[in-house]
Amino acid sequence: MYLELSYIIKKSAPIYPNNPAERLEPILRQDNGDVCNVSMIHHFTHNGTHLDTPFHHDPKGEKIETIPLEKFIYEHPVLLNIPKKYCEEITDGDLKKYDLQQADALLIRTGFDELRIQDPVGYSVMFPGVSMAAAKYMREELPALKSVIIDFMSIEKYLDGNRQGYPVHHQLLCMSTSSRRPVLIIEDANLKPLVGKNLKRIFALPMRFEGTDGAPVGLVAEVD
Ligand SMILES: [Zn+2]
Repeated sequence: MYLELSYIIKKSAPIYPNNPAERLEPILRQDNGDVCNVSMIHHFTHNGTHLDTPFHHDPKGEKIETIPLEKFIYEHPVLLNIPKKYCEEITDGDLKKYDLQQADALLIRTGFDELRIQDPVGYSVMFPGVSMAAAKYMREELPALKSVIIDFMSIEKYLDGNRQGYPVHHQLLCMSTSSRRPVLIIEDANLKPLVGKNLKRIFALPMRFEGTDGAPVGLVAEVD
């Protein structure tokens, strides 16, 4: 069976601090006597379940339209349950407990998907982060890894990222930080439906708006 791991994109959903809000603009409405219903979507590329492309932090990095389809389909995904509290870090030690050599996608469930509705402000600002050492471990020592998928707002703690210039994003995405391939980042994913399921495959198909640094992702799991 298949499970949807993307959230519905809507105005009321939590977003990263200071991101512009989502807005749906009705252009034609049958209720107003128009011939059909059509709309304009005002979407910010880092709201909702989305993929960070290398171009997000690397001016020479790939944009969404040139990343091959194979980077978005995962035959050996691994779900890691690593419970974290507000602003806590996922360390390299958390990852080294597992054999991840074959993993092409890491899905890290901290339990913050539970807080998205219960505490949307805490979810937006005080989310956990991946440590620099953990990010380096993913890029340098997990050769099959294409993507890391998280159940919280951003891969990098909010205050640290702001103050330090987003080093964790750089560690994963930029050509200047490693000679190995970038590791794509999928943020704000709903991993709760995977609890108790046997994970077989993940599909993370992005909407390809030319030139973009991030894209909404249709994230789907195939499970037993
Ligand atoms: Zn992002």
